[in-house]
Amino acid sequence: MFGVVPKVLWSRVYSSEENNLIDLTLRSMVVEIDGHVILIDTGWGDKQDEKFFRHVNLHGGEGLIGGLKNRGYTPEDITDVFLTHLHADHCGGCVKRAAGGKGYELTFPRATCHVSRAQWEWAIKNNLREEDSFLEENILPIGKSGHLNLVEGEGELFPGFSVILCYGHTPGLMIPLIKYKDKTLVYTGDLIPTAAHIPLIWNMSYDIESLKTIEEKQRLLNEALTGGYILVFQHDEHIECCTLEMAPKGIRSKEKFEFKNIS
Ligand SMILES: [Zn+2]
Repeated sequence: MFGVVPKVLWSRVYSSEENNLIDLTLRSMVVEIDGHVILIDTGWGDKQDEKFFRHVNLHGGEGLIGGLKNRGYTPEDITDVFLTHLHADHCGGCVKRAAGGKGYELTFPRATCHVSRAQWEWAIKNNLREEDSFLEENILPIGKSGHLNLVEGEGELFPGFSVILCYGHTPGLMIPLIKYKDKTLVYTGDLIPTAAHIPLIWNMSYDIESLKTIEEKQRLLNEALTGGYILVFQHDEHIECCTLEMAPKGIRSKEKFEFKNIS
């Protein structure tokens, strides 16, 4: 998760156990706008076998459907699924095994699935570097369903919900900027997966082009600092949200807080 940053450095800001494993969360988000109920990212899902999941050591949490239920949503309530990208830990929950046990179906039967065209075409083509992340069973059923909307470029997708496109983690990663109360929230996805990834060169080895990730983080962090945005982290087990400030070595987190405390 921290690429070339040595453990002596990253372990001071993100705790690990003796096997170097760290706890990460899969924090999805629901946004209600203008009659749309938009679900941002869907976690791993449950289609793959035990061996596959042993590798990621899933534990804790409410699960996607459980988390939605605890907040009053059924799968039928979701009108839009916004997939930041098609790596398995982001889109897997969008497709489930069909009721009869044969084939697959969409978990959110009414929802339009939004994926950037750049990411869709890249993932369909696949490549050696990302083939463990782009799984056919997660992706092809979305295309076949007729529910796919390819997002062509940056800009507003829903009123007060706009998209930035990034290419360093994977081509066409979508980062949503969302107006909420009088604030702007950035769901930083895999561009800044945890608060520990705010320093420009603290990046994941999953990124396919590190230098692009650095440029894209710089652009987003500058905009977020100037605009007073709140970052919402998808993968940080310990920190849900933060504001930013300029520190001697660059932009860093300022206040850290839970989502429910945004006023
Ligand atoms: Zn990813």
